[in-house]
Amino acid sequence: MHTDNMLSSLTISQAHEKLKKREITSVELTQSCIDRIESIDKKLNAVVHRNFDRALEEAKKVDDSAEWNSALTGIPYLAKDVYCEAGVKTTGCSNMLRSKDYIPPYDSTTTKRLSAAGAISIGKTNTDEFTMGGSTETSCYGVTRNPWDTNRVAGGSSGGSAAGIASDEALFALGTDTGGSIRQPASFCGIAGIRPTYGRTSRYGVMSMASSLDTIGPICKTVEDLAIVLEAIAGHDPMDGTTSDRPVPKYSGALKKDLKGVRVGLPKEYFIEGLNSDTEHAIREAAKILASLGATVTEMSLPHTKYALATYYVLCPCEVSSNMARYDGIRYGHGVSKPKDLLDYYQRARSEGFGTEVKRRIMIGTYALSAGYYDAYYLKAQKVRTLICEDFTNAFKNFDLIISPVAPSPAFKVGAHVNDPVAMYLEDVFMDGAVMAGIPALSVPCGISKEGLPIGLQMMGPQWGEAGLLSAAYAYEQATEWHTKKPAL
Ligand code: GLN
Repeated sequence: MHTDNMLSSLTISQAHEKLKKREITSVELTQSCIDRIESIDKKLNAVVHRNFDRALEEAKKVDDSAEWNSALTGIPYLAKDVYCEAGVKTTGCSNMLRSKDYIPPYDSTTTKRLSAAGAISIGKTNTDEFTMGGSTETSCYGVTRNPWDTNRVAGGSSGGSAAGIASDEALFALGTDTGGSIRQPASFCGIAGIRPTYGRTSRYGVMSMASSLDTIGPICKTVEDLAIVLEAIAGHDPMDGTTSDRPVPKYSGALKKDLKGVRVGLPKEYFIEGLNSDTEHAIREAAKILASLGATVTEMSLPHTKYALATYYVLCPCEVSSNMARYDGIRYGHGVSKPKDLLDYYQRARSEGFGTEVKRRIMIGTYALSAGYYDAYYLKAQKVRTLICEDFTNAFKNFDLIISPVAPSPAFKVGAHVNDPVAMYLEDVFMDGAVMAGIPALSVPCGISKEGLPIGLQMMGPQWGEAGLLSAAYAYEQATEWHTKKPAL
């Protein structure tokens, strides 16, 4: 049963107001999330590691110090199981690290910044193995179910984070988006998620999948909450040389902007055959709402869109094949008893430790990077990536914002694509353009299908354009009621 008066159902900004006025304590808020997880997570399988005792201790400290300087002080959150926190089990939902209960010796920059702001980490969420997938079905802990219909997936790879927030198990969650893994699960679960510009948030201490594509971002109940979390975690990090030293705007203070004169593009390549009719209808209605708020909405073209997915599925496995090399059973991961020799040790550690999808990507990537095929695949894909980037650079000369569906349809059934990797890959078709270009993109709820499933609107902005993106999403959200709908669990 969903109870609206449950403290865990508050947004960050609502909880902050109550904490400041001392109407509630962080211990009560944290306990409410713990109770919620204990009562409903059996149905969802969103949370794979629980740090409840430690979280309650932290919350108590926050209550005792009682300084509510940051909007995140005393706010409980969940992190995808790829964020390292010193002393807290983190496994990438892979048998490779699960078999030895990997405990990181250090903190990711993101969780460290959140702790510094007083936020309380309560547990780790389910993900596809090392974030490879679009349904959380490749996790060694089993699938996460969608709170709106438990026969369906919550999306992936940040499926645990999205299902956890949609069902009020915490106030916000961290995800990662390499090829859509924040936006798609957020859209499948009816909540908001943002993939920032590549280099806006630090990847330090987050298990890598594809280093030139990986981004760190929040999944929240509202756009305002996205702004609050993003401004706390964004910014230069000496531990990640790809982060930018541009100052981080105060996103949450700049949300209330008028949409008058904002130029919105509707790319014709994103309205293709196979797009679910309820999804298409919801996106076109969203375009009308943006227009009614003063924006000008015009159809436009991003001509290389059709190559984005194929380019992603060449470049991503190449980087995966190199990043997965560290899991050899010696530096990290699954150990082997009584190996015949060193080669046998490596082979068994890797064949026993990794699941099918990870192995598939290592093989594709190794093949595409090998001497005879490098030019034909990797190099070619890098050139196409540049063309896709140019599409966006040109488009943002005439547009402030580009909108599209996040996914071709609402959440699919558990098992629907497990034996067909290409069908699973095709789910990313509308998200990989932004990935190739390294631009920010978010998902905000924009409808409910006839089957009662949430639909997400994708908004893409120019590099470093998070402030504009968030304020447009905020205006849209305030003009609609989709973000207030909750699953009946
Ligand atoms: N579905 C994409 C993939 O499997 C997205 C992964 C991600 O963003 N982590 O590669």
